[in-house]
Amino acid sequence: MKETLPLKIFNDDEFGPIKVFLSRCHNVAYGVTIDGEVFVKVPFVGRRSFLSDIANINEDMRLKLRKIINRQTLKKKEQEAVAAPAVYDENTVIDIWGLQLKIIRGNKQLTQLVGNEIRIQLLPDDNILAPDIQSRIKNVIVASMKIKSRKELPVWLDRLARQHGFTYTGVSINSAQSRWGSCSYLKHINLSFYLLLLPQHLIEYVLLHELCHTVEMNHGPRFYALLNSVCGGHAEDYRQEMKKYRTNL
Ligand SMILES: [Zn+2]
Repeated sequence: MKETLPLKIFNDDEFGPIKVFLSRCHNVAYGVTIDGEVFVKVPFVGRRSFLSDIANINEDMRLKLRKIINRQTLKKKEQEAVAAPAVYDENTVIDIWGLQLKIIRGNKQLTQLVGNEIRIQLLPDDNILAPDIQSRIKNVIVASMKIKSRKELPVWLDRLARQHGFTYTGVSINSAQSRWGSCSYLKHINLSFYLLLLPQHLIEYVLLHELCHTVEMNHGPRFYALLNSVCGGHAEDYRQEMKKYRTNL
């Protein structure tokens, strides 16, 4: 999204600095960012008269804004709980599609992926909490996720496509953090390796979502009807559940 500069900023006793933006709508519209900051959009036409008004937010609007802010705060906390930056140590249990982390000590530093086991060997006096060791562990987990997703996601996608009669031209696994998957107009499907952070039924939901785009390229009613039919009527539940997850390690 493009960062637009505010027209002005005014200070509210309750909500703090409030940025004012110009908009093409006809009415003044208040809103709250994901970080809980209140902003207001003012119609371009007649902006001068609106500007003198907006500094006095009425009680009705205050009530609404408080509710939105509470909801946003809750949502953010939920997301942070899921995406909590982990500190890795010998006791860390990772929950990534069967991958297990095993940190051991030995006479040289080693990393190996043996089946589902990510083996990391540190030197006896390596400080596991040191930033370089922490980022090394994280990198090894990421690399293992990439290997596993390249091996398993295309097979899974293919199985679902056959099962539901979809055709696509190819599949790639990427490191996208902004989206779980996408489908080009040439019906090439891209999947993010971060999908492995989701529970299996949601991974399947994303795969089916992208497969449905091979038939319906938009997110219109026909798309959702199709998606819902291949999801056994659970598309909306899954869509809601997806909101808990982020592409974060
Ligand atoms: Zn889509």
